[in-house]
Amino acid sequence: MRWSRTLLETIKENPSEAEVASHQLMVRAGMIRKVAAGLYDYLPLGWRVMRKIEQIVREEMDAAGALEVQMPILSPAEMWQETGRWTQYGAELFRIKDRHGREFALGPTHEEVITDIVRRTVRSYRQLPVNLYQIHTKFRDEIRPRFGVMRAREFIMKDAYSFDRDEIGAEAAYDKMFQTYQRIFQRCGLRFKAVEADSGSIGGSFSSEFMVLAETGEEAIASCTQCNYAANIEKAVGKLPVISPEETPITMEMVSTPGKHTVEEVAEFLQVPISRLAKTLIYAVDKILVAVVIRGDREVNEVKLKNALGAQELVLAGPEQIQAATGAPVGFAGPCGLQGVGRILMDDSLHQAVNLVTGGNRADTHAQGVNPGRDFQPTQILDLKNVRAGDLCPKCSAVLTLERGIEVGHVFKLGMKYSRAMRAVFLDEGGEEHFCVMGCYGIGVSRIAAAAIEQNHDEHGIIWPLAIAPYQVVLLPVSPKDPRAAEMAEEVYAEMQAAGVEALLDDRDERAGIKFKDADLTGIPIRLTFGRGVAENMIELKRRDTGAVEMVSRTEIAARVKALCEKMAGL
Ligand code: ATP
Ligand code: MG
Repeated sequence: MRWSRTLLETIKENPSEAEVASHQLMVRAGMIRKVAAGLYDYLPLGWRVMRKIEQIVREEMDAAGALEVQMPILSPAEMWQETGRWTQYGAELFRIKDRHGREFALGPTHEEVITDIVRRTVRSYRQLPVNLYQIHTKFRDEIRPRFGVMRAREFIMKDAYSFDRDEIGAEAAYDKMFQTYQRIFQRCGLRFKAVEADSGSIGGSFSSEFMVLAETGEEAIASCTQCNYAANIEKAVGKLPVISPEETPITMEMVSTPGKHTVEEVAEFLQVPISRLAKTLIYAVDKILVAVVIRGDREVNEVKLKNALGAQELVLAGPEQIQAATGAPVGFAGPCGLQGVGRILMDDSLHQAVNLVTGGNRADTHAQGVNPGRDFQPTQILDLKNVRAGDLCPKCSAVLTLERGIEVGHVFKLGMKYSRAMRAVFLDEGGEEHFCVMGCYGIGVSRIAAAAIEQNHDEHGIIWPLAIAPYQVVLLPVSPKDPRAAEMAEEVYAEMQAAGVEALLDDRDERAGIKFKDADLTGIPIRLTFGRGVAENMIELKRRDTGAVEMVSRTEIAARVKALCEKMAGL
């Protein structure tokens, strides 16, 4: 392609709302343009990258034996009502009405629609297993669209759904997708990690996320320094050493703590370590009050709490509810003698803890010498805390570290959640009816492009991994007024095309400095410069990733570029 024919215009300034490098660079390199919050045009350069990623995904899915289909973006509300997700999905689901007043969802994911296909198509065990996928536009009314196409309201996803006759089959389908995902992300040139994850609103029993490691990632990941344990913070479990189990329980007594609200203030005032304090948080869970007791220096993980309670909605109780439950203003809640609280959940950070300091359920008062089991009865003791760096691995007890990541893919074991709700059944050899066992597997195609840039850029611009670069080579005649350079660039350009190398010829009548800057900004892996060397039939070849420069003769250039492309693609 000739640059002059691409409509490609680069931008000098970072867009003001772009907080992360990938967003800034995608806009500046002319890949995407904002239409409205979370809605983007993919311009020709950006779309080429999407097509490359899609192609890798498609090849690997096909190789895994999955079948490509295309489902409508609009799906009728009735299907969502069958599974209960019409209400459960909440505000993220875009809903529209047709001219007859019938309601539809703009698909954020397609479990309902695919299960409908299967219940109408599959009758016998002989048709199973089957894995169906599509690469299509998804809609989610994200509460905070941001980071460009990383968290958009309309984006491209590959979603796949497997149907098996039993758990063993479903397990194998899951493993196959897990391996397929590893190949896909490797081929895209990403540094990633698979982590255990929460299953969120999709549901199901077990899931793993594929995380691209990057400082700017929205997800926190805990990983073990010794074994292969890694989990999203929403799910990660960190073990703690037990606090002073040998201490003898003392009598509980109230102490006056005027104006001391925070754990830090109380700990300092009473001269005890914060870990000796137990915080009591009161939550309103689907309109019932639940108390959560946790060590003073730890934070409640609301995803774990929601899962433990099987709750749809969870909010901290308001001042009036707290007053009613504790008889005290906010800041003095404790687990002893609560009123109208359905359950007291205690985090396992307090397991076997003795002589705690808790709120006294009275203004300006705390209780000392509080002992769980004696002074209050936890309904349940379970892990409800956010893991921290330095906690111990639940598998091998080595130390955990925290890193940040961008979720690019998610694989779920769904079980029979959807097949049961929508009656997707098959007959076995004996004519007996069973529900299909399902799995679902998503990849954020557009998010991969952004994640790749987050991992691969410098102060000059993008550094594309070769496999997903919009073009493999940019040809840059330094001076358009030098007819020899321009002519040689044209010849090599034709040779590149003949050799199947994707080439972009910068034929613009621009200053050399601008062309060099744009070549760096757009991140094309190999740059060929037609400058002074042309007189000696030499072309400068520069790698965008390493910056390595070599002079290659005119006769060898096509073979050299081709070989380098193969090497950079890891072939
Ligand atoms: P997140 O936690 O980031 O919101 P999710 O758990 O909602 O993601 P899934 O429902 O598992 O995401 O969707 C599958 C994949 O689609 C994700 O792994 C991610 O790569 C991509 N994805 C999800 N939401 C968006 C979005 N708003 N914009 C772009 N890609 C997205
Ligand atoms: Mg989401």
